[in-house]
Amino acid sequence: MIPYGRQEITESDIQEVINVLRSDFLTQGSVVPKFERAVADYSGALHGIAVNSATSALHIACMALNIGPGDEVWTSPNTFLATANSARYCGAKLDFVDIDPQTYNMSPDALARKLERADAANQLPKLVIPVHFAGQSCEMREIKNLSERYGFYIIEDASHAIGATYMGERVGSCKYSDITVFSFHPVKIITTGEGGMAVTNNTNMASKMERLRSHGVTKDESLMDRSSDGQWYYQQIDLGFNYRLTDIQAALGLSQLGRINTYVQQRKEIANYYQEHLIDMPLGLPFQSINTNSSWHLFPIQVKNKMERRRVFEGMRAADIGVNVHYIPVHLQPYYRHLGHNIGDFPESEAYYESEISLPIYPTLQKSQQDYVIKTLKGLLK
Ligand SMILES: *Cc1c(COP(=O)(O)O)cnc(C)c1O
Repeated sequence: MIPYGRQEITESDIQEVINVLRSDFLTQGSVVPKFERAVADYSGALHGIAVNSATSALHIACMALNIGPGDEVWTSPNTFLATANSARYCGAKLDFVDIDPQTYNMSPDALARKLERADAANQLPKLVIPVHFAGQSCEMREIKNLSERYGFYIIEDASHAIGATYMGERVGSCKYSDITVFSFHPVKIITTGEGGMAVTNNTNMASKMERLRSHGVTKDESLMDRSSDGQWYYQQIDLGFNYRLTDIQAALGLSQLGRINTYVQQRKEIANYYQEHLIDMPLGLPFQSINTNSSWHLFPIQVKNKMERRRVFEGMRAADIGVNVHYIPVHLQPYYRHLGHNIGDFPESEAYYESEISLPIYPTLQKSQQDYVIKTLKGLLK
């Protein structure tokens, strides 16, 4: 089976992991801080907080912004469940902003219209979480302008987009947001097995996230309510979790990070090859804004309609090609429907979903395999 995405693990990745296994610290050693520094430096942010998944990173990012019951959080329906769930963990009310049918990202126009209505009703969101779908950045300048006008925080869900750029700057610079979150799941751009990171330029948010990752505990005396009893002393000042990444995982991530630009380039070449060879087919191909340089986590195509999607999907799977669908709109999940969302609420994301198929794209996809994917797809579309 040719999967839709997969990791590449090299001998030097394996060696770096073995080095940690032979060392004194499997967790809470020196490799996690090194990985945090390297990812923050790479993306152009001041601080990085490594955690055991992007889901955890989204959760502590929401908590660092004091999201709680009574607050509204808005995101895109075209995302993985975890984006929306992170705000629900904090008890916030979740709502969505429909996508732009060209980029499949949160539409800045739809956001502006919804904010205008929310302002009139005195129900503005406290936080908006744009998702850089498939690796292409959202129009962050427009979203940032709206945040200044209406006063909401921004967390970028860049689970797909480490290595991408927007207006010439790396996604993760946090120039247009408070916090950016990356995922290191094996299908994403670089991997730690499971893992994620929150990056930020805000020192207070960084230290709060660092505490929340590890039980809400601090050893910083300036944060304690009384003087320390001694070097062993710590205080719990928030309700935190064990969301730590291990040094074993961080070693893999650090080693992978050394190849990130090559990975993004390889993904881009695969995407270009699909674009060239599918241009004459009756398909919707992923439009790229001139402001962005995608990291190409996914290659989403759109076929004619729902029936065609089922037929083509099943045909591809029968030919041992592991196509997938990204995403079932989150507001249509039973959990969110029970919270009041319904079919028809976000028609662009619903129409997009009905006809979408994600083709295989990952650095080790061979040209012959890609030719086979294209040939199979063309055969099915005839
Ligand atoms: C993968 C993904 C997540 C969750 O990442 P994990 O590291 O698996 O927790 C969140 N948001 C988006 C958009 C994702 O693709």
